Amino acid sequence: MNRLTRLWALLPALCLTFSLAACGPMGAAPAGGASTPPESAAPTPTPEPTPAPDPYDAVRTYWSEDQLTQAWGPNQVVEHLFFHPVIAYPQWAFHDCPSSQSQKEGLDDWMVTVDEYKKILDNLYEKGYILVAIEDVWSEVTDESGTHMVRNTLMLPEGKKPLVISFDDVNYYDYMLEEGFTSKLVVGEDGQIWAECTDPYTQETFLTQDLDATTILDQFVLEHPDFSLNGAKAIFSLTGYQGILGYRTQNDRSLPADDPKRPEFEAYRQSEIDAVKPVIQRLKETGWTFGSHTWGHINLGSSTRTLESVQTDTERWLEEVGSLVGPTQVLFYPHGSRPDGDDVTQTGPMFQYLQSKGFRIFASVGIESYSKIKGDISAVICDRLHPDGTTLRWQRDRYLQFYDAADIIDLEVRPDLGKDW
Ligand SMILES: [Zn+2]
Repeated sequence: MNRLTRLWALLPALCLTFSLAACGPMGAAPAGGASTPPESAAPTPTPEPTPAPDPYDAVRTYWSEDQLTQAWGPNQVVEHLFFHPVIAYPQWAFHDCPSSQSQKEGLDDWMVTVDEYKKILDNLYEKGYILVAIEDVWSEVTDESGTHMVRNTLMLPEGKKPLVISFDDVNYYDYMLEEGFTSKLVVGEDGQIWAECTDPYTQETFLTQDLDATTILDQFVLEHPDFSLNGAKAIFSLTGYQGILGYRTQNDRSLPADDPKRPEFEAYRQSEIDAVKPVIQRLKETGWTFGSHTWGHINLGSSTRTLESVQTDTERWLEEVGSLVGPTQVLFYPHGSRPDGDDVTQTGPMFQYLQSKGFRIFASVGIESYSKIKGDISAVICDRLHPDGTTLRWQRDRYLQFYDAADIIDLEVRPDLGKDW
């Protein structure tokens, strides 16, 4: 099936989406409004309804400046964990879905389930971590030695340890929709972010805040406002080849400008763009930020990767994703694959190009929250740890500072692949 055919195949589902969104989330309070005056009352000017207070204000303002007395200096590690989308229906994903065995084992390797994720958040909170924005960890300065990045000193509440969380591939790829994941983020009638989800067993589609990594963290932070510094949540690492956040906002370059199907495609694409904008806006209002994961999830460290292909991909990301989420300084390497390895003194043309497009923080994946400021160009390279099936099974020790895998991993539902603890 070509991409366009697939788009049209999606249309009935989209219509369902719109009618659902119009129904609003289950259990949401009806929208407030002025009540009708009694018939006998003299006509009075209708008062403007007072806008409901934003529940997120309590998170943004939880810590006052005089409580931030602990200086976390440039030589102290800011831990960084990243997650893929979490598995909403583990029995479906690991066992019942029609995907291949290797695909199912991939889900086991790289994902955590909703229940595991919730337990991880509980543990991070209990161990004193506090969410900080990755954008606050480093700054670019210009001084006598030129323009370069510096690690900032973070001011934290006493006893707290800073933590950055990133979420990769929050695109709701087609394949995930068939494997027991939620399908998109939406703004509910209550103005909050909800996830749309289709139960793979019943095909029932509904809105939930209980089965998606984003909405679960939203709820967790609302319940534990002291888990967030100045309202920070996490950063999304987005590709562009199947749109973003569950909306198919990508262009189809295989469809010529004069193709008779072009106007219909453009109208569809524009409706997806219009629909994602309020979602992005609400996410930004509630502490989420956005970075690039390249447009095509390309391997930047591959020996066959050309500079030209990186330029094409980056331009396309900026045009189709950056135009929606705004400028970003953060690039998350797909497959954790760096173009220049760990070298901080010699920067190759691919890295130089990416830096020239505005990227300053280049994040890979590793065995610790490594970070190094580059000496020959204004940029930082860093690694992130990865709570997932591989580390729950095989790297329990390395993650004990965050949680004990023995308390987290759900071996009742995961396939029998063993563990080394
Ligand atoms: Zn990825």
